[in-house]
Amino acid sequence: METFNGPFLKEDGFVQTEIEVEGGEIENFEEGGEGGRDVIIIPAFYDSHTHIADSVVKKPPTGTIEEIVGPGGLKERELRSANYETLVSSMKNCMEEMFSYGVRYFLDFREEGLDGIKTLREAHSLLEDELSIGIMGRPKERRFDKSEIEEIFSVSDGMGLSAYRDWDEAELLKLVEKTNTEDKPLAMHCSEDVREPLEKVLDLEVHHLVHMIEADRSDLEMCAEQEVPIVICPRSNMFFGKIPDIPKMLDSGVTLSLGTDNAMITNSNMFREMETAYRVARMKGEISPIDILMMSTYNPRKTLKLDLFHESIERYLVLKYREGDPAFNVVVNSNPRDIIETVWCKDGRI
Ligand SMILES: [Zn+2]
Repeated sequence: METFNGPFLKEDGFVQTEIEVEGGEIENFEEGGEGGRDVIIIPAFYDSHTHIADSVVKKPPTGTIEEIVGPGGLKERELRSANYETLVSSMKNCMEEMFSYGVRYFLDFREEGLDGIKTLREAHSLLEDELSIGIMGRPKERRFDKSEIEEIFSVSDGMGLSAYRDWDEAELLKLVEKTNTEDKPLAMHCSEDVREPLEKVLDLEVHHLVHMIEADRSDLEMCAEQEVPIVICPRSNMFFGKIPDIPKMLDSGVTLSLGTDNAMITNSNMFREMETAYRVARMKGEISPIDILMMSTYNPRKTLKLDLFHESIERYLVLKYREGDPAFNVVVNSNPRDIIETVWCKDGRI
């Protein structure tokens, strides 16, 4: 039996605790007391937006956002020309790295239709680590094909589209209708490079939106009102010369989660993503480090639920203790080497 003392992150903040762990499982959880402070315990990271297949692109990308990740851009060309074995092994490596960063849940947007999803499932099945994956698939071409969609839903957890403006509206509406009939979540990138018509996007009954950098305050307030959560990816945005206004987003009332986006330009190190988010948020206004920490732990658990995540086991990271405010330390100073071990409890979250 191991005993750990220190601040433990619960849904409403840190509390002083003592936990007893047997074989990795939390057997006893005591709140309060004057126990020592040896460790900091937080829920394992949830990377809310990835494209891990992009890890197959090995050259440093140059050019505009359109030239790199747009239709017909570098990413699309490289993915199309990669062979199956290379793609599977590069995704597997990417997931192993993700695991080493303390990520235990992630939500991937997978291109290339049915084959793309199957390749990712294959790579995931080869993993020895326990890493929960949610896959948002999409049709191979930007058009509706009923039988293709049915096949996609047989192996994916939902639909994750590039952007509203990439689609012909009539085709998109048919796709959305089918998605709703199948009771599957539909998510999409939105207002990443230019502002898109949010009312039309929200009419599609989206599960969540990714980016929203170019959204104005009224767009953000509309998302808050309709309880549509937003995933932001600050390191990816910065690569393309953009900075999300995190204080404005929070002030508008939306729930934010953090994602690492395209694997060829951003790894899934959530410590780095949190630190970047905190620093860019400070460029735009005031921000509390705990708000950033919630974006990689509890916020996605609450707002990006898929059937897959309704499991009764919850995993926590036991991190090296640093003197001072625990949220500030985890967000600004901690790194993957600080992970002492992962512990879990069976009956859901503490
Ligand atoms: Zn993306």
